[in-house]
Amino acid sequence: MALITQAPRGTQDVLPETSYKWQYVEQTALSIARDFGFHEIRTPVFEHTNLFQRSVGETTDVVQKEMYTFEDKGGRSITLRPEGTAGAARSVLEHGLLSGALPVKVSYVTSCYRYEKSQKGRYREFHQFGVECFGASAPQADAEVISLAIQVLKEMGLKGVALRLNSIGCPTCRARYYEALQAYFTGRQSELCGTCLSRLERNPMRILDCKSPVCHGIAAEAPVVTDYLCEDCAAHFVAVQGCLSAADIAFTLDPHIVRGLDYYTRTVFELVAEDGLVVCGGGRYDGLVEELGGAPQPGLGFGMGIERLLMVMEAQNAPFPEAPTCDLYLVSMGQAAAQKCFALATALRDGGAAVECDIVGRSLKAQMKYADKLGAKFTIVVGDNELENGVAMMKDMATGESQEVSLDDGLYTVLRQKLLDRELAGVTDLFAEVAEIG
Ligand code: ATP
Ligand code: MG
Repeated sequence: MALITQAPRGTQDVLPETSYKWQYVEQTALSIARDFGFHEIRTPVFEHTNLFQRSVGETTDVVQKEMYTFEDKGGRSITLRPEGTAGAARSVLEHGLLSGALPVKVSYVTSCYRYEKSQKGRYREFHQFGVECFGASAPQADAEVISLAIQVLKEMGLKGVALRLNSIGCPTCRARYYEALQAYFTGRQSELCGTCLSRLERNPMRILDCKSPVCHGIAAEAPVVTDYLCEDCAAHFVAVQGCLSAADIAFTLDPHIVRGLDYYTRTVFELVAEDGLVVCGGGRYDGLVEELGGAPQPGLGFGMGIERLLMVMEAQNAPFPEAPTCDLYLVSMGQAAAQKCFALATALRDGGAAVECDIVGRSLKAQMKYADKLGAKFTIVVGDNELENGVAMMKDMATGESQEVSLDDGLYTVLRQKLLDRELAGVTDLFAEVAEIG
């Protein structure tokens, strides 16, 4: 029997000491998306199973092997979302957004669920930052979505991320390409894994994405899709590259990228970190909306793995904001002082300061120790004398300097000024450092 105190395999807890890093990454990503005109959409964590069967595709690994599917108490087949695109597409269709002004540009941060072998950078519950754009067929749309993903990684301070680009064409090109693939793989049929054998008939392109080393080796020598693009798809691909080059966005063409989800058409791309970890994957899915029963509308987007992004950031020592700390800890001696400290904390918090006071009933010494552990920037000790006189000493925990402050409304102004001074001193230090380097 599984231990109650052990999280299921492939899941992770984000503890209070690191959650600020997640908040930083998520909020920065959503805010950059906002600057690009992509606004947040929130959709349910579970959907009807057939939504994913239809969109992600019956012959994909995700649908065949990885979905968390169950029957609910009403007998419906429900699936925890394995990715974000299908739910977003379902939602914009359901709410008629595609009959309003186009394009419709949405962004999200969501948890995703895939029953995968858990290993480094691969979890059963993971998180994606993603964007989707509906109703834009021009090549600039492809470039815009790609540049948004790159801008997020740039803002996170990541170095050495490579953009790999490919086009997998439309159903017209695909028909010819499938024929070539079928001919090639049929010749090597005896070497393929069982799953790929079944893919040979229905969806030979999926073989290119097989994780088995043998199939992977065979796939490496298979015909490449870019040799089979129709005129329109080839022109679109050239134009996407033109837009990227015009904006100085570097890329390498990689005809082996096919992506693991069936809905992709034309442009597909990946952003790969120095150590080979794929941080972001996306592309165009012009057939998806129609597949889900809507009037045909082009679409495109990407999903960025937040766990992987954080892993690369940590590995590269990318800058995170300072961990949130306590601005002021109010140390109290006795019940009357504790009450006063609580009242002061309430007023200061109302002003937006990060203030704490004793809620455990500790001794003076233990409170001081705790304030130190919290990394409080300032402390004030309030006892009988301070209560009587309405003044106390505020200690700067970094420098050890103390200053007299009054225990009334004026405290807020003094604290705010002190915090500003500290922040400015930090900036000045930084300038000095930069000057030294330069
Ligand atoms: P991979 O080839 O690594 O399996 P994928 O093609 O299945 O990735 P997508 O479905 O395109 O990935 O999802 C987009 C991004 O989500 C990936 O680039 C990756 O950063 C992240 N991702 C996908 N699956 C996982 C997982 N099991 N654990 C953590 N992150 C994941
Ligand atoms: Mg995968």
